[in-house]
Amino acid sequence: MTTTLLSAALILLILWVWQREKHWRRSLEMVTKAAGLKTFEASKLSARFQGLIEAESALNKEEYLRRLFESLLNEIRQGVVIVDDHQRIKFCNRTMGHLFHRTSIHRGRTLLEEFSDHQVSDTVLAALQAQRRTVREIEMNTTLGSGAVNTRHYLIEAAPLPAKAEAGAWLMVYDITEQTMAEQVRKDFVANASHELRTPLTLINGYIETLQSGVIKDEAAVHRCLDVMEKHGKRIIRIIEDMLTISRLENGSSALNLEPFTARSCVQDALDHLSPMLEGRDTRLELDFPSDGGHMVGDRFYWDQVFTNLLENALKENPNPGLVIKVTGQWFADHCLLSISDNGIGIPAHDLPFVFKRFFRGHKHHSPEIKGTGLGLSIVRRTVEAHGGTIELTSTPGVETTFKIRVPLGTA
Ligand code: ADP
Repeated sequence: MTTTLLSAALILLILWVWQREKHWRRSLEMVTKAAGLKTFEASKLSARFQGLIEAESALNKEEYLRRLFESLLNEIRQGVVIVDDHQRIKFCNRTMGHLFHRTSIHRGRTLLEEFSDHQVSDTVLAALQAQRRTVREIEMNTTLGSGAVNTRHYLIEAAPLPAKAEAGAWLMVYDITEQTMAEQVRKDFVANASHELRTPLTLINGYIETLQSGVIKDEAAVHRCLDVMEKHGKRIIRIIEDMLTISRLENGSSALNLEPFTARSCVQDALDHLSPMLEGRDTRLELDFPSDGGHMVGDRFYWDQVFTNLLENALKENPNPGLVIKVTGQWFADHCLLSISDNGIGIPAHDLPFVFKRFFRGHKHHSPEIKGTGLGLSIVRRTVEAHGGTIELTSTPGVETTFKIRVPLGTA
């Protein structure tokens, strides 16, 4: 891609000198296409070129070509830098500043002085020493305008300048943070899913071996073993079902089967489903919805899961007496606000950033005896987002833990 892009840029310059105005639009189209620019970016570039044509008469040819070249390189989405053989920056496009969250990058300084990180200059050095194209992935901390430090991942491609040109190198920089993160999430998911499935499977296999060995003669003990095996078998099924739900939700809103329903009926169904957990407990439930029950349009299957997962969490996290669960819904002109809160043990501040992550379970839950897959809140968040909404969580342990869901009325 980069070679195509640079060659295309050079072709454009040659065409430009040869043909000038006559075919410039066609040449520009070719370059913008090769550079993968979007239509609006291409038209912005085209407008700049038009400006250059108008200014041409006032400029000498060299200056005119330099500006033309810079205009092109400033529009592309990759950072481009040209350095001399001492790694002093001779040219740097605007994108490079954006990629590293810098207001400016100074020409004349070396790469090391400018980026205070040896990884960029090492890549260029390797390309210069080997006299060939060198590609490296690097991780670097950049400081945002707010002062916050942000870790970004870059792909750097460096190569010596063509033999006929002066000594030095060019480098192209791509921000690959999102791809790297997505890949990491995928790897974590596979590792966590395998781990979560292996634990109950190992237990089931252990019981099978024990039963096969014939050491257990007592019928009641055999039944106990079968019960445990059944429980772990059910856990495996639940993990797989939850993983499939998340995977379907990750396909976005196309996976949704929209229909009208009321929020109150959805909450009532969830409570009916959870009635075995409510039996014999003095839990107080407070429901507050508009008199029509709160109309929604959404995928009922997933909204049932949202309320079931949130209510089930409130119940199972708080087995002690005195639990109060409040579920409310407020309707506004363009959105509704659903809130589920409890007065239980809550979530410690250090766990708050992680609870929506797949397979995250509170510290106390590492025993396989406690129900849960660590996927419940991931399903909740993905459902809300697939319906165009947002979810917020606040928790003051022992006082109040609240999940607030805002969903636009168009789709929800
Ligand atoms: P799990 O299957 O463990 O319930 P979830 O994704 O539903 O997985 O929840 C993740 C973690 O968030 C839980 O393990 C628990 O530590 C915490 N959590 C969720 N809801 C509550 C709540 N209402 N009160 C206290 N902790 C909660």
